[in-house]
Parts: sequence; C-alpha cells; structure tokens
Amino acid sequence: MKPLDPYRDPAAVRACAEQIAAAVTRPWTIMEVCGGQTHAIVRYGLDSLLPKGLELVHGPGCPVCVTPGHVIDAAVDLAGREGVTLCSFGDMLRVPGNGGSLMDARAEGGSVEIVYSPLDALALAKENPGEDYVFLAVGFETTAPANAMAVAQAARAGVENFSILVSHVLVPPAMEAILSSPDNRVQGFLAAGHVCTVMGFEEYEPIAARHRVPIVVTGFEPLDILQGVLLCVRQLEAGEARVENQYARAVERGGNRPAQELIAEIFEVAPQHWRGIGELPASGLRLREKYARFDAARRFGLTEETDIDSAGECISGEIMRGVKKPQQCPAFGVRCTPERPLGAPMVSSEGACAAYYRHRAHPSEEPAHE
Ligand code: SF4
Repeated sequence: MKPLDPYRDPAAVRACAEQIAAAVTRPWTIMEVCGGQTHAIVRYGLDSLLPKGLELVHGPGCPVCVTPGHVIDAAVDLAGREGVTLCSFGDMLRVPGNGGSLMDARAEGGSVEIVYSPLDALALAKENPGEDYVFLAVGFETTAPANAMAVAQAARAGVENFSILVSHVLVPPAMEAILSSPDNRVQGFLAAGHVCTVMGFEEYEPIAARHRVPIVVTGFEPLDILQGVLLCVRQLEAGEARVENQYARAVERGGNRPAQELIAEIFEVAPQHWRGIGELPASGLRLREKYARFDAARRFGLTEETDIDSAGECISGEIMRGVKKPQQCPAFGVRCTPERPLGAPMVSSEGACAAYYRHRAHPSEEPAHE
C-alpha cells in the first residue's frame, strides 16, 4: 500500500460524504483557497458527492493566476535585454502579460531559461559570470523560503550577476479581502495545507474570530478535502468559527520556524498587486533594503506600474474571489482554451479554468494516473 492510498480509499471517501450529508441542514458556501485543492475537487468529482445546497467555490491560491500582467511585462523586458537571461518555472512561460508572454519573448530571440528552482538559476549565474541571471520569484508562502535561500546563498557567495524579480503574495490578506468584499459569498474556508506547513495557522485565528468564519487546514487528497468540508460544516451548523487542522500529518500550529526566520531575514511585508483582484495592503513580500542589490527591478531600473492589467474579457478576478465558476465565463472553452488561453487560470496547472476544462469539458484529457 502506498502512503497516500488511505486518503484515496473510495469506501472512506463515500463514508465521509455520508457524514457530511447527515450534518448539513441548510445551504452553505465554502471556499477552498488553493488551486491544488480545486484540481483535486474537480478531478475526483468531490463536489458531486456533496448534498444539494453545499457549494464549494474556488479561491485565489493559484500563484500563476495572481501574478499581475505588469510583472510578466517586466520579465519579457528583461528577457529581451542584452546579456540578461530570465529564468522561470515552465508554467509561467505561457501566461499572457499585457504585451505578450515569455514564450513570445523567447520566440522573438529573448533569453528565457526554464528552471526547477531558484537555486538552479543561481547555479547558472555562478557558471556564467559574464551574464546576468534573473529569477522570476512568484508564488505564495510556499515558494518564499526557496527564493529567500537563493538570495541568502548569493549574498554569502558574493554572486553579483544574480537577482530576482519578486511578485510574492500572502494568503491571509487575500482571505481578509474576500470576506470584506460586498459581494462575498464565502462562509468558511479550506486553508491550503502546504502554505501552513511553512507558516502554521496562527495567522488565521484572528481572521476566523473577526469574520466569524470557520477555517480548516486541509491536505490535497480526496479524503483530506472531504474531512475538511465535514469539520467546516459541523462548525457552521453549530455556529462556531475557529481554526481546525485536518492536515495534522504535515502541519503544526506554529509552522516551520526556521523557514519563517529565513523569509523574515530576506523579505519584508509590502503592498502587492494581484491580477484580477487589484492591490491589497500588506499582501506581498519585497526584498529588504539590505538585499536590494538582488532586486531585479532596482538593478535594471524597471518602473513600478501596479494597475495596468488588461484583463479583456477574462473574468479571473470574479472566479478567484468565488463569485463565479469557470463555466460561467462566456469565453470558457470557446475563445479560451488551454491551447489559446485568454487568462492565467486557463494556463496554470493550478488554475480553476484549466481544471474545469480538463476534467469537466474534456474529461478524456485526464491523466490515467499520477
Ligand atoms: S475561461 Fe479564460 S477568459 Fe474566462 S476566466 Fe477563465 S481564463 Fe479568464
């Protein structure tokens, strides 16, 4: 038996769904924050196991989806500069900026390298001291420790030709923004387990108390998610609002303290622009002054445009705030497909639109196994 098999056991999943059905007496709307949870829900059809009236809506936790267009534009700009190579995770290459994607930049002769970690980009910089290497540092609290580590190692080794283009986002301010929005429908959250492996879940406790919403930390397997829904529903039905940890096999309340200390050494909290959502106060990370020489925006004199996303007909903001579902977008599967995406949620492996397209509109595209 593989370690995750108990969390995919059909009998256990069915039993949990029955417990949920028995616990629910009225309609509820719960948001799963993370795109990985969304993919599991859609892939395994978990939402179809829930009683009528209990709705799961999708959250903003896809790092590719929330990276703003002006950051892609800046990356494209850098890729086209003489002596500069832009390093990125592969799924960022097809994300449209306001003027094009990194894929377009590469086709036009720009220097774009796919890497699997910021440390790979640092290694390239060390191997090629005559060139500049910039890593596109995007994502949530999950990717921040590796980016912080790359900067710390570059500083320690005195590497002068490495920098990062930072667009980091933080989960708790996004939850606050969703709950404070006039069109909010969310009554409870499934918090992303991997973010909490780094940050713990202490930060969520004031949010749960202030907004009177249950928040349940979950993993990414079918039983993890349904158990999270069950815990959330039981709180909602009982009129409770606290943080619970379904993912105790990976998450501790305080999280990974050394990782948090490393993040705090390299980065400080700053306002951040989210694609489709706009600027949220204290919702991102920027390099501390001490490490400003590793800030690609400063090194290459990039201007700080913050509100120029040309979303066109893409309604990704409404989808990532749980106001609409992908199939409610008029472009879904018609003018917007994974081959010709109009927005990042159709590009990313964690995007809600890509999940619906792959598992609902075109289920034959589902991989046979992981
Ligand atoms: S289907 Fe395409 S255009 Fe519509 S919200 Fe999703 S990514 Fe945007």
